[in-house]
Amino acid sequence: MNISGPNELLENVINRNLCTGCGACVDLCPYFKSYRGKTTMLFPCTLPQGRCFAYCPRLEVDLDYLSGKYFEKPYNSDPLGFYKSIVTSRASEKFTGNSFQAGGTVSAIMYFALERGYIDGAVLTGQEGILPTPRIVMNPEDVLSCGSSKYTAAPTLSAVNRAIEEGLNRIGIVSTPCQALSTAMLRANPLEEKDFTDPVGLVVGIFCTWALDFRAFEPFIASRVDINTITKTDIPPPPAEVMEVYTSDGSKLQIPLEEIRNLVPDACSYCMDMTSEFSDISVGVLEGDPGRNTLIIRTERGKMIVDEAVREGYLIVDDMPEINLEHLKWAAGNKKKKALLKAHKEGMVNNPGKDKISYIRLNNETLEEIIA
Ligand SMILES: Cc1cc2nc3c(=O)[nH]c(=O)nc-3n(C[C@H](O)[C@H](O)[C@H](O)COP(=O)(O)OP(=O)(O)OC[C@H]3O[C@@H](n4cnc5c(N)ncnc54)[C@H](O)[C@@H]3O)c2cc1C
Ligand code: SF4
Ligand code: SF4
Repeated sequence: MNISGPNELLENVINRNLCTGCGACVDLCPYFKSYRGKTTMLFPCTLPQGRCFAYCPRLEVDLDYLSGKYFEKPYNSDPLGFYKSIVTSRASEKFTGNSFQAGGTVSAIMYFALERGYIDGAVLTGQEGILPTPRIVMNPEDVLSCGSSKYTAAPTLSAVNRAIEEGLNRIGIVSTPCQALSTAMLRANPLEEKDFTDPVGLVVGIFCTWALDFRAFEPFIASRVDINTITKTDIPPPPAEVMEVYTSDGSKLQIPLEEIRNLVPDACSYCMDMTSEFSDISVGVLEGDPGRNTLIIRTERGKMIVDEAVREGYLIVDDMPEINLEHLKWAAGNKKKKALLKAHKEGMVNNPGKDKISYIRLNNETLEEIIA
């Protein structure tokens, strides 16, 4: 694999505004840090190869290699990636009274996995004011305090690096698609470290079309509402086209999406994945029913944990309506095509040799099918 070091990461990702802010390079060493939405390298480091580069979801991502490792087949053009089944779901009545983004499926599954010992800690995204903050959670009850979406990019994976340092070795991670991709890269042991053991017990990926840049969103929202009063933000599925901001006095501010689209960093326009394809389970909002989720089960491990959570009364599942499935495939395919076409046109895909870094690599047949 074509793996370089921190300087190449800085030059090709951070300085080109391609950084998704995922946090994978943060807290691996003393050099990379994240501060209020910005990933920076504090001091120069001349290491020729580094984990920061190897885990970055923006550099030399070899989709066939990762698909082979994770699903035992080369990457193909299915808009939703590889999966076993798709259902709708919600947390059971056990969780009534908690605040979730939609059906609470993510929180119910992480709670269950932690309680039953399938994972020894959960890496989640909590919040300080409106700043999304990575958290390592050891107690099932604490999973519930991280419910709800923070629509700005969060350096969540920095907490995975800290959890590994602390000795956790069955970590459960709730990740956006770029974070799930980075996690798959970490688990593939790209630097072929001899003492490597897979530290991850479960990856629950959430759907993501884009995330806002915190540095742009904070002043924007502060000019509309007292940020200390915000209790929740939501972006209901189309055709709503608004961000809803709920405040402690019970009111709701509606912001047309066209007013915030320019707060989305350019990095998201290169992101092919809407449904966190490299996860055990993926969860999104079910269109037309804000109280339920779309649940994609991708791996044996994901299936085993979901089946057990249903049997034990933590999770409720139902059939996925065909019309929802069709629309989901359309939306995910659309994102994939747009992003890959853009990256391809800009010379970022399948560059031969080591001289020019590729953002992404995949077999030509799949590439042609996606961008056709
Ligand atoms: C930036 C962003 C964009 C999204 N875009 C879409 C979309 O286009 N379509 C769609 O169907 N769904 C989207 N979602 C996912 C959706 O909002 C819900 O997270 C998902 O449906 C799970 O709902 P739930 O009720 O099960 O989650 P909950 O049980 O409320 O749990 C939410 C989980 O999300 C995690 N989380 C919150 N914010 C972040 C963040 N910024 N980064 C990483 N993890 C986070 C928390 O750790 C928590 O565990 C998006 C979420 C985010 C954060
Ligand atoms: S995308 Fe993630 S790993 Fe790459 S530079 Fe940004 S924060 Fe670091
Ligand atoms: S759109 Fe992609 S790159 Fe942007 S935050 Fe979501 S998963 Fe990450």
